[in-house]
Amino acid sequence: MSTTEPSIFTRIIEREIPASIVAENERLIAFNDIAPKAPVHILVVPKTPEYANVAELAAGNPALLAELVSFAQTIADEHGGEFRLVFNTGEKAGQTIFHVHAHILIGNLGEDPRADFQ
Ligand code: AMP
Repeated sequence: MSTTEPSIFTRIIEREIPASIVAENERLIAFNDIAPKAPVHILVVPKTPEYANVAELAAGNPALLAELVSFAQTIADEHGGEFRLVFNTGEKAGQTIFHVHAHILIGNLGEDPRADFQ
């Protein structure tokens, strides 16, 4: 028996906790972030819990990563088609949930985040 607790995202996928779901297929789910950092802030999450971050997903199932990006584009198309796609990877990069997910951010994004470092 695994001692690992299901991630909060697995609990959303299993409908154990509520979320504002915007799209779903057999392999992916998208729902609004509970603490939005942009006017549109949607998370896209593979349903499988086996990949902790985008690097693991790229190595283990590149087709699923490609599908995730395409899924994000389809969602973004409902909001004008242009978007920032963010994968925080590792605690020091701000990752708090170790079940791979992409942040779709649209609108009022301000500066390019690469401009933060002086
Ligand atoms: P990260 O910090 O990259 O791991 O992103 C985790 C994201 O999950 C954060 O933006 C949180 O606001 C979001 N989040 C945490 N719990 C929930 C929830 N129950 N429903 C929707 N989004 C959530």
